[in-house]
Amino acid sequence: MNKPRGLYIHVPFCLTKCPYCDFYSVPFSQKSAREYAGAVIRNLERYDEPFCTVYFGGGTPILLAPYLKEITEHVRIEGGAEITVEANPCMCVPKTLEELRTAGVNRLSIGVQSLNDGELSALGRRHTAAQAEQAVLAAKSAGFDNISADLMLATPKQTEKSLSETIDRLVSLPIAHVSAYLLKIEPNTPFGKNPPELSLDEDETAELYLSAVSDLAAAGFAQYEISNFAKNGFESRHNLKYWRREEYLGIGPAAHSFYNGKRFAVPRDIRKFIGSPVQDEAVTDGSPDETEERIMLGLRLTEGIPEELWKPHEKRLRFIPREYYTIKNGRLSLTPRGFLLSNEIITLLTEN
Ligand code: SF4
Repeated sequence: MNKPRGLYIHVPFCLTKCPYCDFYSVPFSQKSAREYAGAVIRNLERYDEPFCTVYFGGGTPILLAPYLKEITEHVRIEGGAEITVEANPCMCVPKTLEELRTAGVNRLSIGVQSLNDGELSALGRRHTAAQAEQAVLAAKSAGFDNISADLMLATPKQTEKSLSETIDRLVSLPIAHVSAYLLKIEPNTPFGKNPPELSLDEDETAELYLSAVSDLAAAGFAQYEISNFAKNGFESRHNLKYWRREEYLGIGPAAHSFYNGKRFAVPRDIRKFIGSPVQDEAVTDGSPDETEERIMLGLRLTEGIPEELWKPHEKRLRFIPREYYTIKNGRLSLTPRGFLLSNEIITLLTEN
């Protein structure tokens, strides 16, 4: 029997738009949320298969909390499945957390981003550091044992010292996982049009990333992917599916799928999604090159790639400084320094 797939549901609502974000989202209204939940359920009814992970991403999926139980009731979810919801700290209040628990949600990914008020305000976030800490504690009290925190690196006003202070405070909270992303200035965002002043240059940013990796490791959060760190056993099972090239189904505008060997995406248009009996799915890649994808995705992980994938390219390894990769038990993997150059290294290994 094939391994059960993962299910991703994109919830495209936000209360306000953060100036750095280019994810697909639209302003929230109760009416759209209700219509959207109905459209998700309509689409889910087409699938009679068990899913072993469910991930509500966004947008701000916690805005859909009142409808999540009804949605999860329309999914065949395997026993012991990981069910994640991304949450904005301002919204982690007892009533909402209880709605999530009732819907079977067992993993919360909280958008902490920073525990420094100056940095949060420069990022245009709606919450303060105290609210973010409070959100984690409220989630723990509500019964969540698997809490992840998002952290942003190299943001305006951030220094190595302020990041280290954020990490110190963060790891003292009851969390089991950290996702730490470097701020990327996307062209079609307010930051892209009017770039903020950054405190760090490229070399300092690289050092900042390396110091975050080592601070998190010292606190018991082992790196398992370029941007992801977990206590033992708390790696994101859903996201591991992406990097291990396992299949997943995406529902909702802007959601991507890898299903029956094909990759496809749903148009970024909520009105179209709500108005169509079945979501429009445009194939983005009908026959992806499996070997190339396995190299590209596998080298994001600290477990790396097996010998049969890198041996054919062994000669090219001589162009890569030794401090950027390791070979252990036949598996090639990048070091944290190598992760900083992963695009270049992957291109070198996969180009014809
Ligand atoms: S960062 Fe999150 S909350 Fe902010 S606009 Fe993007 S999806 Fe919405």
